[in-house]
Amino acid sequence: MGEQLNFTHRSNLLNSPMPDSRHFETDAIRIQAPGSAAREHSVPLYMTSGFTFDSAEHARALFANEVDGNVYSRYSNPNTDEFVAKICAMEGAESGLAAASGMAALFGCLAGLLNQGDHVLASRSLFGSSHQILSQILPRWGISYTYADTARPESWESLIRPETKMLFLETPSNPGLDLVDLAWAGELAKAHNLIFLVDNCFATPYLQQPIAFGADLIQHSATKFIDGQGRAIGGVIAGSEKYIEPIRFFMRHTGPSLSPFNAWLFSKSLETLPVRMERHCDNAEKLADFLGEHPKVSWVKYPFHKDHPQRELALKQMKRGGGVVCFEVSGGISGAVRFMDRITMLSRSANLGDTRTIVTHPATTTHSKLTEEERLAVGITPGLIRIAVGLEHHTDILNDVAQALG
Ligand SMILES: *Cc1c(COP(=O)(O)O)cnc(C)c1O
Repeated sequence: MGEQLNFTHRSNLLNSPMPDSRHFETDAIRIQAPGSAAREHSVPLYMTSGFTFDSAEHARALFANEVDGNVYSRYSNPNTDEFVAKICAMEGAESGLAAASGMAALFGCLAGLLNQGDHVLASRSLFGSSHQILSQILPRWGISYTYADTARPESWESLIRPETKMLFLETPSNPGLDLVDLAWAGELAKAHNLIFLVDNCFATPYLQQPIAFGADLIQHSATKFIDGQGRAIGGVIAGSEKYIEPIRFFMRHTGPSLSPFNAWLFSKSLETLPVRMERHCDNAEKLADFLGEHPKVSWVKYPFHKDHPQRELALKQMKRGGGVVCFEVSGGISGAVRFMDRITMLSRSANLGDTRTIVTHPATTTHSKLTEEERLAVGITPGLIRIAVGLEHHTDILNDVAQALG
């Protein structure tokens, strides 16, 4: 059996710290839920809603939080605990929580930590539903927000108000692949006593660990590279126990818990995250280089590509550039539509982080609900194509893109 953590129904998932010398790849595989009497090698699926008590006294002690143990899968389950423990080790986080989706994870962070009258300073380049939560849902409970432009970091400090409680951003952003300097943002948050929350979905903990740069909390859509195979929806939060505790209270009692089945899938997927991300990055680099030289492409954007304006920053805070490449096809919207329709092997879909390469036209799909002006403010031009590069042979990916650009 692999190394066993002392899982609990409370927060102290990582009370048995890993030796400092242990590597990311090893933790991804060797952090495992305790084995059962069957002596299985691979952790089984604990598809159970509840857990049993040894005695009336044991039940009382569990409910009184005097002893550790599972009670009910809305609170904890060996599969979700294992998934969270792996993410905490990978992100360098003290504690964490699983959630039913990436959006449930984000909403849990916001609703668990913010009160009426609070204000959020957020990067303008956010995932579509994150924008809807900030702009349509939280204002109903008296929580306001201001957007800051990634291109003008010098303006951010002046947007902080006495009631600002949180700084929230994505880097690299979706779909524009703009970066924010995490160390700088961490300093800004610290200077103004803000909770610093990062959506680390695009980079994954393998490529970027925001907590090391001063983030208090990170949140993921596990649906993307963490699952990596386009099978299941899920989310996860990790960070200081100080912030996880109120979020846990909110999540336990409002119920956006992750299914043990999805947690089991994600935890198995994390075993191969480092290997998969290396290949995603290899393929994405080759595609970015190819697009950068193509006459029908106005520009290409990829964090480690020589043309990315923030390449130096990418090198500073990311291990590699990630699995997503954006480019502007010449001919604007009609050029983009033609490209999308000519694709033969790659998938036309809105997801990302799959083994299968996915092409998306954000202006007519994922970001169609924004106004043209709002789209342009986050770099979504009419001809922008996002390619979430998969794990097929790079030659086949490039061939399909080449013939579609034709
Ligand atoms: C997909 C995504 C989300 C939302 O996650 P779901 O699992 O779909 O709820 C949030 N942030 C980013 C950057 C995403 O790509």
